[in-house]
Amino acid sequence: MDTLTSSRLIIARKRRGLSLVKLSETTGISVRSLSAYEHGKQQPGTDTITALARALGFPLRFFFAADVDEIPVEAISFRALSKTPAWQRDAARSAGRIALLLNDWIEERFRLPDPDVPHLPNTDPETAAEMVRARWGLGNAPIPNMIHLLEAHGVRVYSLAADCVDVDAFSTHRGGCPLVLLNVGKSAERIRFDSAHELGHLVLHSEHREPHGPDAEQEANRFAAGFLMPRDDVLAQHLHGATTDRILARKTRWRVAAMALAHRLRELDLLTEWGYRTVCINLSRQGYRSSEPNGITPETSQVLAKVFKALRAEGTTPADIAHDLHLDTTELNQHVFGLIPTAIEGGAHTTPHQRPNLTLIQS
Ligand SMILES: [Zn+2]
Repeated sequence: MDTLTSSRLIIARKRRGLSLVKLSETTGISVRSLSAYEHGKQQPGTDTITALARALGFPLRFFFAADVDEIPVEAISFRALSKTPAWQRDAARSAGRIALLLNDWIEERFRLPDPDVPHLPNTDPETAAEMVRARWGLGNAPIPNMIHLLEAHGVRVYSLAADCVDVDAFSTHRGGCPLVLLNVGKSAERIRFDSAHELGHLVLHSEHREPHGPDAEQEANRFAAGFLMPRDDVLAQHLHGATTDRILARKTRWRVAAMALAHRLRELDLLTEWGYRTVCINLSRQGYRSSEPNGITPETSQVLAKVFKALRAEGTTPADIAHDLHLDTTELNQHVFGLIPTAIEGGAHTTPHQRPNLTLIQS
């Protein structure tokens, strides 16, 4: 009989945001037994593993595959750490771990861009943003696509499963490669800002993995604002004392949220405190606090799109990839910005054939 891989049971349970008690209630298996399985002290029978797989919504095969290490808590920057419940953090961390399984699979088959993210600890965030821009040859120009930019500089970007609602984004490292996971259940402008925020963590906070308090969050936000809306470019746009309408008209230049631009104008002293508050009240009334009316098109991964395309050309479908990873395509799709066409979901998988030599991906 196959042996249950205890680390996979843990990842699957946390991915679904379930406590041992909740899983026990759903399956009728005692907490004591579940705990023993997770600690590898007891082997469940086939019927029990089947029941667990069904309750957790993972293919049975997932639980028999190789051991997986968890992403250490301290390797992740979470926004609003104190406010996010532990089970939500665990769910996001486990979703991230599943994205890493896919990342490892891709890295084995494709040569992705080499990482080029400078580490600038103890640097003023605004200065650090300017230094990264200079290194990447961006000048003061607006950034058309943050995800493509990150990928071109070797950051691996995945989407955070939609059910991780309380976690905006997080970043970590894997085998020397920076990784960013983005919650895509929000406005495209917010996701762009989150991407720049996570870049801020990678640049400013990678070296010293202390628990990240409000200071680190502030620094990452300042980095993001400076990176997306460079000081000199904003100053050149005649936005001194800008009205709400003017802000709404100009935010498209940097593809940022109206609130983010208003905040940046305050930061650069182009709005008084009173002017800033007035704009914020007006924007709130028009619905710009919780969403971004008439917003930009969401960004998505270029690398993943190319990978899927290259694989498909060789006859490998997303269902084959999911099968290799012991996942179903619905789960896989949660981590890849929904790039897998829905029509393919649930489609029969073909047996992967011998692959020709691997394609070089260039962004
Ligand atoms: Zn953060």
